[in-house]
Formats: sequence, C-alpha cells, structure tokens
Amino acid sequence: SVPLTFFAGIGGASRQGVLIKGGNYMDTLAKLRMVVFDKTGTLTEGKFSVTDIHPEKISKDELLHLAAHVERYSTHPIAQSLRLAYGHEDDNCEVSEVEEMAGHGVRACINGKQVCVGNRKMLDDMGIKIDTCKRCIDQVATEVHVVIDGEYAGHILVADLVKKDTVEAIQMLKKAGIDRLVMLTGDKENVAKQVADSIGMDEYHAELLPVDKVKIVEKLLNHSSVEHRGTLAFVGDGINDAPVLARADVGIAMGALGSDAAIEAADVVLMDDKPSKIETAIRIARRTIGIAR
Ligand code: ADP
Ligand code: MG
Repeated sequence: SVPLTFFAGIGGASRQGVLIKGGNYMDTLAKLRMVVFDKTGTLTEGKFSVTDIHPEKISKDELLHLAAHVERYSTHPIAQSLRLAYGHEDDNCEVSEVEEMAGHGVRACINGKQVCVGNRKMLDDMGIKIDTCKRCIDQVATEVHVVIDGEYAGHILVADLVKKDTVEAIQMLKKAGIDRLVMLTGDKENVAKQVADSIGMDEYHAELLPVDKVKIVEKLLNHSSVEHRGTLAFVGDGINDAPVLARADVGIAMGALGSDAAIEAADVVLMDDKPSKIETAIRIARRTIGIAR
C-alpha cells in the first residue's frame, strides 16, 4: 500500500508544475543517481530558425517551398521551423504519400515529385554522396538536406537555442548528488559537442537513432544493481522518445511542447518544460520518503 504522505507529496509537486503519475515513483525519484536527457526540445528550446539556405540548381525560395511542404504534417521541431520560415501554405501544392523516417527525416510526393528532407544518415541510406561544405562544418547548425527525384537539391541550415533554465538545472542536479548526467541526440556531432560544452554536460552521444537511445539506456541500467547504481531517469519531449521513456526507471516528459505520445509514456510530466523542475521533483520525493519512514 502507498503511504498517505505520498499523496501529499504528489499534491505538492503538482502545485509546482510537476505531475507525478503515482506514489511508486516517489521512491524511484528519491533514489535517482543518473539522468539521461534528450537534447532537442528538452535541453534546447526545440524552436529552430533558418540561418542559411544553399540550393543546388534551384532557387532558395523553391528549395524552402518544397521542404516546408514535405514537412506539412510533421510534428518534429525542425518541421515547424521550416513551415514558419516559408511563411505561408501554397494551396495549389499537392502533398501525398507522406512518410516520416524516424531519426532521418521525412519524405513526400509534392506535385508529382518525390521529395526527401532529412539528415546525412538519410543521404547515406539513399546512396547520395555530397561534398562536405566547409561553411556547414564551421556553423553550429543542423543540416537539413533536400533530395528531389533521387537528385541532391541542396540544404537548409537551422539552429536552436539552449533553454534559459538548462545550465542552472544541470548545476542543481550535480549538487543534488546526481553523479551521471548524459545527453543523447540524433543531431550531428559538432552541434552536440557545442551544446554539451556550453551547459556543463560531461557525457554525450550524438548521431543516434531512436533504437540507439534505448540501447544506451539499457546499457546504463544493466551496469549494476539498483542498490549500487541508484535509479535512472530519462527526460525527453519528442515523438521518438516514447520507447526510451518507457525503458527508464522513471520517464520524465516535457508537457507544454512535448508530444502526446511522450506525455502518455512518461511517469512524470514537467508542465512548464523547465529542466530545473527535475531537481524540484527529486527534492519533493526525498522529503516525502523521509516523512514516510
Ligand atoms: P533529436 O531529438 O535528438 O534531434 P530525433 O530522432 O528527433 O532526435 O531526430 C534526429 C535527427 O533526424 C534530427 O536532428 C534531424 O537531423 C533528423 N530529422 C528527424 N525528423 C526530421 C524531420 N521531420 N525533418 C527534418 N529532419 C528530421
Ligand atoms: Mg527528440
């Protein structure tokens, strides 16, 4: 049975914007030693802005037009930014056969043309080789490549911002005795490194597919018994995060920007998307467990 004080703890947490979906998570939160984060939308705003457009053989506007329309139905933060940058919907544009490729991008048929929008992994899978653009390596931006009917058509650079709250959140967790903080991302290596360095995150893994994230969390979980390692939380926001959220001892989702699937799969929801609320949850849980004993 769950001690009555757990309900008081859950109530107190909810008043601070932390929804805890059951008394059993109080114990798990109190014993946290490892926190694994998804990058995009969790540590960063997940609101990308277009910083550069490099078309090949077509105009900048045409490249952005095609990319925005392929992304018409996608909930990925990159999709939203491309639609916003393009500005308006072209009603004469026929979009069909839309298919999301998790960790890669999205493809669709636009006015009879097969258009793919995504990262280098997507290009590799399609057997398309491009010259590494010097300007792209220097920029701390995410590359969004576009392929039209199997031919490379250029790329759009998009950049995201670290949340105001993130650096403080990491420091608070370290102070609270969380001794392993890990960032996981599907984004490219140099973007991951720049973000990790700027927020004081010691460990990160980049260019991951959703299945790779699950594997890394499983490896961390199997390292030793709960008594020795403490418990592990995964914090995420995205459509692709649900499997990892379910696998962690406690899955924490962003509630405001987060996808419904992530909120559904999570054990704890941070209503205002602030990473510093993880420490709030731990503090409340430790106090609640202390009172129950
Ligand atoms: P993360 O949240 O760590 O970025 P995701 O699995 O959501 O991980 O995405 C990994 C990468 O796949 C992105 O950084 C991006 O390069 C590419 N990607 C995924 N979905 C899309 C999309 N709808 N449009 C463009 N690129 C995408
Ligand atoms: Mg994500």
